Amino acid sequence: PGFLKGSIAKILPQYRTYLQLKKDVKKFSESDKRILDMKRISKKYDCVILGADEMWSASMQSIRYTPEHFGKDIVCPHFSYATSGVLFDTKNSDLVAKAKKDINSYYDFGVRDTYTKGVVKLLTGKEATQVLDPTLLNPYFIKNHGTKKATSEEYILLYGSEYSQAQQAYIKGVAKEHGYKIYSLGWPQEFSDKFLDPASADEFISCFAGASVCFPSTFHGTIFSILNHKPFLSMTNELRGRKVTMLLKDLELSYRIYEEGKTDYKEIDYSEVENLLAKKRKESLAYLTGALKKIEEDYICPKSSCSGCTACLNACPFGAIKMEFDGEGFKHPVVDKDKCKNCGLCKKICPANKSMDVICKEKTHDQIYAAFSRKNEDRVRSSSGGAFYAIAKKFIEDGGLVYGAAFDEKFKVRHIRVENAKELAKLRSSKYVQSDLGDSFAKVKADLETGKKVLFSGTPCQIAGLNAYITGAVNKVNKKLSDNLVTVDILCHGVPSPKVFADYLKAMAAKRGAKIKSVNFRNKSYGWNKQAMAISFDNGEKYIKRTESDPYYIMYFGSYMLRQSCNECKYASYKRCSDITLGDYWGVEKLKHKDMASTKKGVSLVIVGTEKGEKLFKSVVELKKIQGDKKSSYQPIFERGTKASPRRQEFFKDYAAHGYGYVAKKYGKLTPKQVVIKKIIAPVTRKLGIFDLAQKIFFVYKK
Ligand SMILES: Cc1cc2nc3c(=O)[nH]c(=O)nc-3n(C[C@H](O)[C@H](O)[C@H](O)COP(=O)(O)OP(=O)(O)OC[C@H]3O[C@@H](n4cnc5c(N)ncnc54)[C@H](O)[C@@H]3O)c2cc1C
Ligand code: SF4
Ligand code: SF4
Ligand code: SF4
Repeated sequence: PGFLKGSIAKILPQYRTYLQLKKDVKKFSESDKRILDMKRISKKYDCVILGADEMWSASMQSIRYTPEHFGKDIVCPHFSYATSGVLFDTKNSDLVAKAKKDINSYYDFGVRDTYTKGVVKLLTGKEATQVLDPTLLNPYFIKNHGTKKATSEEYILLYGSEYSQAQQAYIKGVAKEHGYKIYSLGWPQEFSDKFLDPASADEFISCFAGASVCFPSTFHGTIFSILNHKPFLSMTNELRGRKVTMLLKDLELSYRIYEEGKTDYKEIDYSEVENLLAKKRKESLAYLTGALKKIEEDYICPKSSCSGCTACLNACPFGAIKMEFDGEGFKHPVVDKDKCKNCGLCKKICPANKSMDVICKEKTHDQIYAAFSRKNEDRVRSSSGGAFYAIAKKFIEDGGLVYGAAFDEKFKVRHIRVENAKELAKLRSSKYVQSDLGDSFAKVKADLETGKKVLFSGTPCQIAGLNAYITGAVNKVNKKLSDNLVTVDILCHGVPSPKVFADYLKAMAAKRGAKIKSVNFRNKSYGWNKQAMAISFDNGEKYIKRTESDPYYIMYFGSYMLRQSCNECKYASYKRCSDITLGDYWGVEKLKHKDMASTKKGVSLVIVGTEKGEKLFKSVVELKKIQGDKKSSYQPIFERGTKASPRRQEFFKDYAAHGYGYVAKKYGKLTPKQVVIKKIIAPVTRKLGIFDLAQKIFFVYKK
C-alpha cells in the first residue's frame, strides 16, 4: 500500500499536467487524424503550411509513401516550411514519379537542409529556400531558459535512442571526472542514473536548461542544447545523423559531432552562433511572409488550378475581382484588396477548390450516341458530325438562346450570345484556343431571371464555373434558375494561350502581307480524322496544313502551351458536369452500322447525362442518331487528362524572351520521335486496324 500510495502521489500531478497539455494542444489542432483527412479539413483554410521532421521521407521498402504529405487532396493553397526529406529514396523511379505528380500543387518550398533542396529540385525542377527548423525560429527558449530546473543535481543529459559502446564509455568518463549524474530523456538508457519523464513542454525544456552538459544523438536534442546555450557533443555519425550533420555544418558547429578520441564538450562561445541564428531567422521569416503574400495574391484558388472560369468574378458582391492576363497570355482573377470585404464567397464558389464529386450532380442518364447532321453542309462545316449546330438550332427554334465560342472580327475567341439561327454559324466548329468568357455568365443569369431558356456551350471547366455561379452559393433563388439552363460541354484536350494564337495569326498575315479573312481549325479537305488548319487571306491566298505540318497544331498537341489547369485536368473523366457532352466518335467503325459506312465527313460523340439533355437531344430530328458505347467511342480522355510537356516552362520562358517566331522554330516542328509515331506508326496501325490497340499499349508503356 505504501508503494502504491507513493506511486499515485507521483503520477497524479504528472497526469494532471499531461491533461492540461492535451487541452492546450487541442486549442491549436482539431484532431490527430488531420493529415489523412486533408481533403475535408483543407477546405476550411486559406492556406496550409506543411512542415515536419522527415515528412517527405519514403522508401518503398521501409517507409510508407503518404500522398497527403506530398500535397495530394489539399484543396487550398499550400507550401512547405522547413520540411525534411532526408529519407526520401531518390533512386526509386516509381516513388519519384508518384511524388512528382502529387507535389506539383505546392506553391513554394521551404526546406530544412541541402539534401531536401536536392529532392525538391529532382521532383519539381524548382529551387527551394533553405530555412530554419521552427524550433530554431523563435528565440523563446533563450529568453526563458532556466525557468524551472528539473533537479538541483549536476547532471549530464542524454537525448537519443542509441549510444555506441565507445560513446557510453566517454559519457561515463565525463560523469566520473566531474561527479555528474547521467539522466536520460525521451529514451531510457540502461547506463543512465535516472529517466526523466516531463509531462509538459516547459518541463521538457527545463531538462535541457538544468543540465551541466548535453550529449544528444538526435536533431532536436542538438537544437535544444544549442537553444539553451549548453556545452554539448552530438553523439551521432554521418550515416545515422545526416540531419544533425547538416544542421551543425550550417551553424558552423561541425566540430561538435563526437568523434572517438578527437572531440571534447568544452564551453561554446554562443555569441557567434546567436549572430548566425539571428541572420537565418530573418531570412526564414522573410520566406514565410513572402510565401504567404504570394498566396494572398493568388487568393481565390491555387493559380495552377485556376481555369479562368470567371465564377468568382461574377459572384463577388462587391465587384472586387477583375480578370487580367498573365505572362503566358491566360486570364486570371485579381482581387482589389481595397474593395474586398473578405466575405469568402469567391473561394466558396470556385470549382478549382472542390473535387468533381462536389462540383457535379449525379448523372440521371448515361447514354452514348454516334450522331451526324443529315445536312451535308452543316456536317462538313462542323468539327465532328455537326451535333452541336443541330441541337443549338432546335433550341433556338423552340424559343431559346444559345451561348458559345466564336471568332470576333480580330479572330480573338470569345463567348457570345446568339438569338437566331443565322448567327449560330459563328459558334460552329472547334477553336483550339481559350475562349474569353467576358461577362457571359452575368448575361446568362439575366436571361434566366427574365424567364428565358438558355443553352450554354463550352469547356467542362467553363460549365462547372457557370453551374457554380448559377446554382451555387450566390443565393438560394438561383437554384430555380437552372431549370431553364441546358449545358453542353466538350471532351477537352486543353486550351492553348490566346496570346500565342494571336501571334501565330499575326505571323501568318505578316508573311503574306495580307489580312486574314477566315480561320478553320477543323478543315476536312483531307477527311475528318486528318484535320487541317485552314486560313484564307484577303489577297486570295489559302493556307491548308495538316496537324503534323502546322506549327500551331504541333505546339498544341506537343502540350507546350496549354493553360496550367489543363495539365492534369480534373474534368478528364467519364463523369460529366453537363446535360450533354460532345466529342469526336473516333471508333465509330467499330459500331459496324450501315449508316456509318462513310465517316469521312465526321461523326459526333454525344453523351447524354441528364433527363433535360435527353429530352432536347431526342427532339433534334435533323440528326442521325445511333446507339453507341463507351468502348467504341475510344476516348482516352475518360481515363486521363493531357499531360504538360516537360518543356512547357522552357517554352514559355523562350516565348517571353524571344517571341513567337523563335518558339515556332524551336517547338513548332515534329521531333524525330514524333515523326516516326505520326507519319509511320499511326498510319500503318490505322491501315492494319490496330491503331487503338497500339495506342493502348503505348499508354500502358508510358505509365
Ligand atoms: C479546345 C477544344 C479541345 C477539344 N478536345 C477534344 C478532344 O480531346 N477529344 C474530342 O473528342 N473532342 C474534343 N473537342 C471537341 C470537338 O473538337 C468538337 O467540338 C466536338 O466533337 C463537337 O463537334 P460538333 O461537330 O458536334 O460541333 P462543333 O460545331 O464542332 O462544336 C462547336 C462547339 O464547341 C464550342 N467551342 C468551340 N471552341 C471552343 C472553345 N475554344 N472554348 C469553348 N467552347 C468551344 C462551341 O461553343 C460549340 O458549342 C475539343 C474542342 C475544343 C474547342
Ligand atoms: S472561380 Fe474560376 S476564375 Fe475564379 S479562381 Fe476559381 S477557377 Fe479561377
Ligand atoms: S472575399 Fe468576397 S468581397 Fe473579397 S473578392 Fe471574394 S467575393 Fe469579393
Ligand atoms: S483541359 Fe480541363 S481545365 Fe483545360 S480547358 Fe479543358 S476542361 Fe478546362
